[in-house]
Amino acid sequence: MTQILKIALDVPLDTLFDYRAEGIGAEDAGRRVLVTFGRRKMVGLIVALASHSELPAANIKPVLKVFRDTPALSPDILRLLQFCADYYHHPLGEVIFTALPQRLRSDQTTALPCQTGYALNESAPRPDDLPARAIVKRKLLAQLAQASFTARETLLALSPSAGKQIKEMLAAGWIQEQQETRPTPVQGASGTPPQLPVLNPEQAAVIDSFASAPAGFSASLLLGITGSGKTEVYLRLTASQLEQGRQVLVLVPEINLTPQLEARFQRRFPGVPVVSLHSSLNDGERLHHWLLAQSGQARIVLGTRLSVFTPMPELGLIIVDEEHDSSFKQQDGLRYGARDMAVARAKQRNIPILLGSATPALESYHNALEGRYRLLRLTRRAAEEAQLPAIRCVDMRSEKPLDGLSAALLQALAGNLEHGRQSLVFINRRGYAPVLMCNQCGWLAPCPRCASRLVVHLRERRLRCHHCGHEERMPRACPGCGNLDLAPLGQGTQRLEDALAQHFPSARILRIDRDSTRRKHALREMLQEVHEERVDILVGTQILAKGHDFKRLTLVGALNVDGALYSADFRAAERLFAQLMQVAGRAGRAAEPGTVLIQTQFPGHPLFEALRHQDYEAFAATQLAERKLAGFPPFCHQALLRAEATHLETALAFLRQARKLAAPISGPVTLYDPVPAPMARLAGRERAQLLVQADSRRALQPFLHHWNAELTELKARQVRWSLDVDPLDF
Ligand code: ADP
Ligand code: ZN
Ligand code: ZN
Repeated sequence: MTQILKIALDVPLDTLFDYRAEGIGAEDAGRRVLVTFGRRKMVGLIVALASHSELPAANIKPVLKVFRDTPALSPDILRLLQFCADYYHHPLGEVIFTALPQRLRSDQTTALPCQTGYALNESAPRPDDLPARAIVKRKLLAQLAQASFTARETLLALSPSAGKQIKEMLAAGWIQEQQETRPTPVQGASGTPPQLPVLNPEQAAVIDSFASAPAGFSASLLLGITGSGKTEVYLRLTASQLEQGRQVLVLVPEINLTPQLEARFQRRFPGVPVVSLHSSLNDGERLHHWLLAQSGQARIVLGTRLSVFTPMPELGLIIVDEEHDSSFKQQDGLRYGARDMAVARAKQRNIPILLGSATPALESYHNALEGRYRLLRLTRRAAEEAQLPAIRCVDMRSEKPLDGLSAALLQALAGNLEHGRQSLVFINRRGYAPVLMCNQCGWLAPCPRCASRLVVHLRERRLRCHHCGHEERMPRACPGCGNLDLAPLGQGTQRLEDALAQHFPSARILRIDRDSTRRKHALREMLQEVHEERVDILVGTQILAKGHDFKRLTLVGALNVDGALYSADFRAAERLFAQLMQVAGRAGRAAEPGTVLIQTQFPGHPLFEALRHQDYEAFAATQLAERKLAGFPPFCHQALLRAEATHLETALAFLRQARKLAAPISGPVTLYDPVPAPMARLAGRERAQLLVQADSRRALQPFLHHWNAELTELKARQVRWSLDVDPLDF
């Protein structure tokens, strides 16, 4: 019988497309197909089967091929992707093809070991139609009828003559041969499980609360300072899931920065297949790991944001580590938030989810205070001997810093060097200096494509834009006035490295930032150097802040942090606090106590007060109070309509039109005026935005749905626009 298939394609149209095919069953939903779309051949995915189409039969094209070499996407993943499409108002086809591994987005052969099997054709008789003496054929047909794909080995096992009978049935056209991808099995790491630490009372309470919680969905927020043993909790909960025959998904912000975590899971669970999914895998590896998760062979999946969509048939628990990290939110294309999708997935599957952080997103913390999440606390460092670092501000108003380094920090660095301990100097700006300036006329080297300045990279004698990647040679003279006296202004990691080398000629200094770690494995090698104590002073950006456990590191200095205190971005303070807590967490992880020195012009600022006491909850309380007064998230829900065009006016005009369209349907939703984006010009395009907000998602979502439909109808030319739901970046 001919079936109508509702097919999703990777095109920016919010609709499914009708095709027809024969011999398709309900179990084929979620399978990939090859179809013609316009003049192209494209890979699509069967979302649903239908008995009829709105289109005239003559206009419905047949499916060229059904890919049976990879298993169908399961209904629960399709449901999650549908939810994602609805929530972010993004075409389902694009959502599906974003979630699939690259190799499955195209029709190229997957180049993985395949298993041969068979499927019944429509012309095949039913077992009972055959004469009783055709015992083997009847057996084979009965077996084949049970699934859309039956492995050859399964059939061969039924009878010694099965091979011959299969050949005959192929010749008669009753069955067809198919390939199904079977990933190479993975073994877990070898070794014996390590001796487990005895849980401290706080950890034990967290584990107990999970053990005694009723089955089904629950969301918990694990608020634990760095080193409080959160990872140990993850490991215990994972162990309990593995015992129950469940899979566990662990989401981390940037897995290439935390190879330690993967190693820790593998060491803890020898013999258990653990796979990772992140951007530094090649396409083949990524597909392989994905298939291992989908087939249930991989029991633990560690991955970055995209892995939230990984099919895992026996998923029993989701863990999101460093849940506050902004890299869980995708900033282009499908702008989804992986943490929020993880919560949605846990809810859909009716399983628990654990969000862990030392500095949760205020949204999550607010949810916990409101009782939507369970709040679990770890307030002490877990390792017996480890103490919290002492955090002090260095008042820069009374300092005359040499190269940005205060006397107090220089002295502390010298002391550490003397004692053979490691130090870290943190500055969140790579390059030599953020600007190149002419001392004569005030000219500042601009990016020709962005509304920003070019960053000086002195060693290469180049100027680079950190927004669009534009690069040029450092000019010898000012293009404005011809003056030869051009000076780098301000500080970056390279300049800091040079300055430290001058102050401490004998120190072994290592700079770790995106520039110095560009080469594959560079970061891993550098971290190795640190662990082997071949480094005295580390200079680096936030790359260094995350997750690393340096035993000999006892001093952290933080430079140039003040910008965030009075930023126009209402989340800047939250980010700074999280960042400083994280860097501070690098100090004194083992026996020796750590010291953190923060250079600032505002030592009395409440943010530093809370930081000194490592008191996230005090900080969060003041922030939440401010947000409530100002009506910012989490006390409202926002979406941003972004538009970009060659000319700013075009983008603004589009947004004004969008605002007009919204007026009759906005209801309880507030629409602000269209404005140029904070960085209006980026990579040669002008950008503007329009903020909308409402008290609840329930009010915002239906409005966005209608509005999005009307905006699509506009068929705006010369403008590229997109909706960003729950925007993080403005
Ligand atoms: P977090 O993930 O919160 O930063 P970890 O789980 O990495 O904390 O724990 C920090 C350190 O304390 C690790 O070296 C870990 O092995 C150790 N640790 C964790 N729990 C315990 C415990 N109950 N007893 C002793 N040491 C522990
Ligand atoms: Zn000049
Ligand atoms: Zn630029």
